[in-house]
Amino acid sequence: MIAEKIKTFKNTIPDTVTLVAVSKTKPASKILEAYNTGHLVFGENKVQEMESKWQELPKDIEWHMIGHVQRNKVKYIAPFVSLVHAVDSPRLLKEINKQAKKNERVIKCLLQIKIAEEDSKYGLSKEDAFALLASENYKNFEHVKIVGLMGMATFTDDKLQITSEFESLKKTFEEFKKEDPNIEILSMGMSGDYTIAIEKGSTMIRVGSAIFGERNY
Ligand SMILES: *Cc1c(COP(=O)(O)O)cnc(C)c1O
Repeated sequence: MIAEKIKTFKNTIPDTVTLVAVSKTKPASKILEAYNTGHLVFGENKVQEMESKWQELPKDIEWHMIGHVQRNKVKYIAPFVSLVHAVDSPRLLKEINKQAKKNERVIKCLLQIKIAEEDSKYGLSKEDAFALLASENYKNFEHVKIVGLMGMATFTDDKLQITSEFESLKKTFEEFKKEDPNIEILSMGMSGDYTIAIEKGSTMIRVGSAIFGERNY
């Protein structure tokens, strides 16, 4: 089942789009089913859960932290995380830089931009994100590299609203790219809205339930 889903995704999405298989709440055995098809990119949203799966599973897996990260937990993922999707403050970026330095690594990060209507969604305004990218502080951080933007659309059936939120993030992405040539990843699209996201220029989709089935919390 999972292997079939992974293969179908890979055959249908464009080559320019990376699939992050979101395995949160799912056991290591399910991740291995996907891994055994040759898929290496997995997303988790909880620090402890990602760390214990990293310990247990093959070391060539690329672990993406897609959820909000508390600063005091960065140290647990700094030794191995391959991309942090949801950087939403200068202080978090500073802590990632510090922990990456301790591990003699450069950690790639995305800035999370708030595009949804709901108040509950984390993320920076476009202006604050731009200020962070252009800041002296960031220029002095040698152990983090901002390589793109991430956003989550409003949870709604209104396709027009989702479309316009993704369009606005894509526009912001193009502006950021002009500012910094390292900006190349646009992480947008989940199980319910990835087709719209790809249409609107996503280069990375984060898909959980459409691969692994519904989550039981
Ligand atoms: C859980 C999660 C996803 C995947 O959600 P699905 O709807 O199951 O595809 C994507 N992005 C983030 C940030 C998530 O927390």
